[in-house]
Order: sequence, then C-alpha cells, then structure tokens
Amino acid sequence: MSPTDRAWAEIDLNALRQNLLICQNKADVAALWPVLKANAYGHGAIECARICQELNVPLIGVGDSSEALQLRNAGIHTRLLILGTAIDSEMASILEYDIEVGVHSEVRIQELGAIAKARNKKLGVHLKIDTGMGRLGIRPEAISRIIKALRNNPLLELLGVMSHFASSSGSNASFTEEQNMLFLQAIDEIRCSLPDAKFTCHIANSAALFTNVTPLGDAVRTGIAMFGMLPSNLAQHQLRPVLSLRTQIAFFKDVPANTPVGYDSTWVSHTACRIATIPIGYNDGVPFRLGLSGNSQVLVRGKRCPIIGHVSMDYCTIDVSHVKDAGIGDMVTIIGTDGNEHITAQDVADQADTIAYEICCRIGSRVSRRYVDSSVTQKPLEHAYKS
Ligand SMILES: *Cc1c(COP(=O)(O)O)cnc(C)c1O
Repeated sequence: MSPTDRAWAEIDLNALRQNLLICQNKADVAALWPVLKANAYGHGAIECARICQELNVPLIGVGDSSEALQLRNAGIHTRLLILGTAIDSEMASILEYDIEVGVHSEVRIQELGAIAKARNKKLGVHLKIDTGMGRLGIRPEAISRIIKALRNNPLLELLGVMSHFASSSGSNASFTEEQNMLFLQAIDEIRCSLPDAKFTCHIANSAALFTNVTPLGDAVRTGIAMFGMLPSNLAQHQLRPVLSLRTQIAFFKDVPANTPVGYDSTWVSHTACRIATIPIGYNDGVPFRLGLSGNSQVLVRGKRCPIIGHVSMDYCTIDVSHVKDAGIGDMVTIIGTDGNEHITAQDVADQADTIAYEICCRIGSRVSRRYVDSSVTQKPLEHAYKS
C-alpha cells in the first residue's frame, strides 16, 4: 500500500540535525546514541538513520530485529543495538546482520552463545541491569551468575552495561538518583569480575540528559529530544519540533442550525455553519479522543478551527465558519505551525489524555512522509566519540 497525498507528515531533517547537535553538546563527553525505534517515533527510521550516519553517531538503538534489518537493508552500517530483548525467532538474523542485543538472563546468554559458536561468529551484547524499571534486566543480585555465563560463552562480547530510568522527570525524581547509585555499584562489581572487559556504560535517556543527571554514563540513548520534544513536565530547550502532521480540505457543507454531525450525533450545530471534512482519521493517528474533548482544534489558513463530532477512521469534521476564504485543497494542520498559530504533539497528547510519544508513533502508514532538508552544509558532530 503506498500512501496518498490525503494526509502527510512533514519531517524537517535540518531540525533533526540541529537537535542532534544540541543533544550532543548537552551530553558533553558522553556519546550520543540516537534511538530510532517505532519507525523513529513515527518520523521514518531510514531517513532519520541516514542523518545519524552522516553525523557519524557511533550507534543507533532500535526496538526489534525487523527494525534493525530494515536499516541494514537500506545501507545503514552504523552499529545497531536492540534495546530491549530479542525473542527466539530473531536470533539467527541478529547474528547474520551484526546486530547488538541486550541480554538479561543466563538462559538467553547460553542460547546466544550456542548460536554464535555454531556459526563461529562473535556477537556483541549489552548486559541489562534492572535498577528499578522492573521490566527487563537482571536484578543486581544476579550479576555474579550472569558473569559466569558470559565467561563460558567467549564469543559473546560484552560491549555494554545498561539500565533504564523509570522516571520521565529525570533528575527531578529522587528515584532516578537511587537507580543511578545501583547502576554504579553494578558496574563496579562487573569491573572487578571482568577487569579486562571494555564496555560502554549507558543508562540515560532524553529526560536524564535535559535534567543534567550525573553521572551521565559513557553514552546517552536519546529518542524524544532528538525529535524536538521532551516529556511534558520538562521545559523545552532550544529543541525544534521535527514533525508536522497535515492534511487538506476535501469537502465543504453548509448546514442550518440543529444539524447533527458524525457518529452518534454527539455534535449538533447551534447556528448555521460551514463544516469541512478532512481526509484523516484515527487510523492515521488522530486520536479518537480529540472528538470527545470538545475543544480540540486544527489550523486552516492560520486560524484555529474546532474539531466537531467524533473522529472517524478515515475522516474528521471541522467547523470553518469563521475562515471565509477557505477552499477545497486548503492545507489543514493537525500538528505544526500555520501562520502565527502553532499546535504541538504535546498539545494533541494533552487533549487525548496521552503522551506525545504515543501521538507521534501512532501516525499511520497511510500518511506519506515528506522530507524537507533546508541545510546546505552538513558538518559532523564535534565530539570525538569514546566508543
Ligand atoms: C526508547 C528508549 C530510550 C529513549 O527514550 P527517550 O525518552 O525517548 O529519550 C532509551 N532507552 C531505552 C531502553 C528505550 O527503550
């Protein structure tokens, strides 16, 4: 299925570059490891990875082996790390395409070790420690057992020791400090048992980076910040939004007072008004809840227009009575800037009672991605990476 021009996401690659530079500056001597899982948070993994590769980032984080293979097949040769875990059926391709993977159980280490041995190939692994996220990772008490398993599988190369912060407020949460302490203790223990191992320690995400968590570790895994957003509770820095979500007016209808619009007739006109139908719906990433909140808006010709009635799968209806010159084909902005008005992914998330992460990565596959690149010169990241 190829997307049409009914709705499109504009991706500003220059903003992405700028944000990467801001993140690298903030990370100082730590390496920047962009996270491009979930189709780069909806922004398009291949194009974003090309920018990352062009800027010489040392490693890109992905969510699973299919995402890693997609990048390899597109000619990305940067180191790739599956951040979470791999499942059995992913093992063979991980080895074949030189993908690094998080490990957090003896069984998995043995299985990976056996596959590596059968193919006589090294495999880079990152040992994941659960310091409080409670999802993946080994509990700190299990470290000695895991190290024994790693010693027994010499083809597994310990390239990283990692953990993940649970708080989206970064250093503003005391729990973050606790996790960092446990992480440092775990690293000490691993260094004592494996004095010759040279691994990268990484725990920080965007929130940690932008709230100056210390120590930051050797590498920072940044996702959301690179796309110009931060968790809602954190101040925005000079980061610029990379994505705009737009569609166009497909149809107008002038209705008299007392006309119901949309499923379940939840909206009824008070007076005569002009309704426009736009070809974007919840399948394309406009949350169904926007039609329930009663005060969600889109932009037409630089003016705010309320979404009226329920959002349906393929369409939304908006009230354009006050935009006198609106015409068929006029651009409609769901997320982004039009004239002096601006709607952020966070605004949409607030209306839909969710987080900006979900708004971006839910933008559907029918929505075409248009890449805009305004930069003339492309300079590499200033910092010489450690790993
Ligand atoms: C997604 C992810 C990140 C990036 O998080 P952001 O909040 O987007 O910076 C970092 N580490 C892991 C393990 C992740 O899954």
